[in-house]
Amino acid sequence: MAHEHHHEHGCSHEHRHEHESEHELGHGCCEHCCHEHGGEEEDRRGRIIKLAVSAVLFVAALLCEHVFRLNGIICLVIYIAAFCVVGYEVVIEAFKGLFHGEPLDECFLMTVASVGAFFTGSYGEAAAVMILYSLGEFLQDLAVDKSRDSISELIDIVPKTATVIRSGEYIEIDADDVEIGDTVAVKPGENVPVDGVVISGRSSVNMSALTGESLPADVCEGDSVLGGYLNLTGEIRIRAEKEFDDSAASRIKGLIEGAEAKKAKTESFIKRFARVYTPVVVILALIVAVLPPLFDNQWRTWIHRALTFLVVSCPCALVISVPLTFFAGIGSASRKGILIKGAEHLETLGRADIFAFDKTGTLTKGSFSVVNTVPAGDVNDLITVAKSAEAHSNHPIAKAVSALEGETLEAEELTELPGEGIRCVINGSECAAGNAKLMRRYGIQIADGASTSVHVCRDGVYLGRIDVSDTLKKDASDAIKELKALGAKKTVMLSGDNKAAAEAAASAAGVDEVRGSLLPEDKVDAVEELLGQGSVAYTGDGINDAAVLARADVGIAMGALGSDAAIEAADVVITDDNIGKVPTAVRISKKTVRIAWQNIVFAIAVKLAVMVLSVTGVADMMWLAVFADTGVALLCAANAMRAMK
Ligand code: ADP
Ligand code: MG
Repeated sequence: MAHEHHHEHGCSHEHRHEHESEHELGHGCCEHCCHEHGGEEEDRRGRIIKLAVSAVLFVAALLCEHVFRLNGIICLVIYIAAFCVVGYEVVIEAFKGLFHGEPLDECFLMTVASVGAFFTGSYGEAAAVMILYSLGEFLQDLAVDKSRDSISELIDIVPKTATVIRSGEYIEIDADDVEIGDTVAVKPGENVPVDGVVISGRSSVNMSALTGESLPADVCEGDSVLGGYLNLTGEIRIRAEKEFDDSAASRIKGLIEGAEAKKAKTESFIKRFARVYTPVVVILALIVAVLPPLFDNQWRTWIHRALTFLVVSCPCALVISVPLTFFAGIGSASRKGILIKGAEHLETLGRADIFAFDKTGTLTKGSFSVVNTVPAGDVNDLITVAKSAEAHSNHPIAKAVSALEGETLEAEELTELPGEGIRCVINGSECAAGNAKLMRRYGIQIADGASTSVHVCRDGVYLGRIDVSDTLKKDASDAIKELKALGAKKTVMLSGDNKAAAEAAASAAGVDEVRGSLLPEDKVDAVEELLGQGSVAYTGDGINDAAVLARADVGIAMGALGSDAAIEAADVVITDDNIGKVPTAVRISKKTVRIAWQNIVFAIAVKLAVMVLSVTGVADMMWLAVFADTGVALLCAANAMRAMK
């Protein structure tokens, strides 16, 4: 338990710092505070103490100056002390930034502003600015940590302990320590700790943590279960098939936490923006400080205004809130069984205007049943060859054929031809089972029928066909409609099945455009053509379309929790077979991006307003500027959390 906890914190902190250092704008935003210290709690306490000490010193200095009217030097010393308690780390960070080729960061802006204020004689203000800035940073970190924790909680679906049965005894151990082959007992109400196979007992399980599917499923001996499933009704024993870290739930968690590190375009926009923004701000401040006094000779006033302007320009709100928004969006999607592998994919998905789909297993259920057997000669011959060839294939069509009654012979030299079928050698004869394209390789010409058929031949002699049919998923046409409503320009079906079958399915689903008889490489070509017309999201089941998943702007894999290839190739993984989650994912993406932009616009607008006020002298108070900065940052953080709902 302790281990897992640590790991989590270690992780989120690492990510945090990755962010900070990757954003030219914001390094130092929180860095100076958490780097040197170990525990988060300890660090927090340290910061509170420092803030309190310097606040007390500050009040003392105020009293000395205004109530007791002590000597100015004494007051100055106390102000400097108050400044140093909270400010020395900021100053150090500012210098570090200068020497690490990242000058002009936030700490630098704050240091110049407050030290400058000391020199213009506004001691109180200088100390106040630094104290408020530190307080603001502290509050922001607190808000960000809290949000992060609640997002992490959301994706933390695996139990920390497991009950294993070793030499007849129940022992409770860390889920981490479960070994492959261990027998794990899972009582009703407990979560399955690791992926495994049920070896005894029967129960129903709730898979919602992994898939978002709320209907429970029955499991009994021989069924596989994944870590994170909630056992509902009876005690089951499972044999562990994966270690904790390799189990689906841990992989999902890793995926989401890793997702954060991948920057979205919006984020890199901020980075580019920062590269221009900070120098511009510094130059503007210099102009404000130097130019007007040449005419009115009011040096102090204008330098003070310039310093206030620098304080205002701190871009903290942007730096903390944009990554947080994306993290929240990704976290909430994961809760619905939609894994998004990076902020950039979230953003691209929201912008996609062409939605392409695979047919089998994606728009259709992918569970075929045999509807007709049309032998050219002997029926048994047809069925035996078909069954023997298909016995080793994982294609949904193969499963239907394998379920037929009949004899199965040993097949050798099995080769699966993606998008065509299977060839093999049975009793020394070259046999094949698949579509018309495959038959053509053997010189057999077959006109495409209206249904999906498995044609069978042996030694170049046609044995007949087995017609199979699949049904459309019941929410397929709703999903297509919803995508249209969400602004999709076009929906396309790309299928390896014959034209007639593909067209029938497409018109039932309400897809605009359909292409059939595509080999996996034809699908890639088709997607490339679509890429010329807009931003393409491709949804497939990972069977015969891993390459397309990778080629599209966003690849969405359906029901792919088990398939590593699809998980790897896809940018978005929908953990169950629910096609309705494609529009859900799009909706989450659009919302997240909208919130990120709201934050950007809001933060910049407030900054601009305060900048104008400070330069024109309407609100020439540095501490007010710090206040505005912190306030905006906190509001943006709160707004970011809306992406979770
Ligand atoms: P889709 O693009 O509709 O998901 P696939 O690319 O998976 O379809 O398969 C395309 C076609 O290839 C199938 O419709 C079928 O005719 C043929 N096919 C592929 N694998 C097999 C197999 N194992 N047995 C029979 N036919 C197969
Ligand atoms: Mg398919």
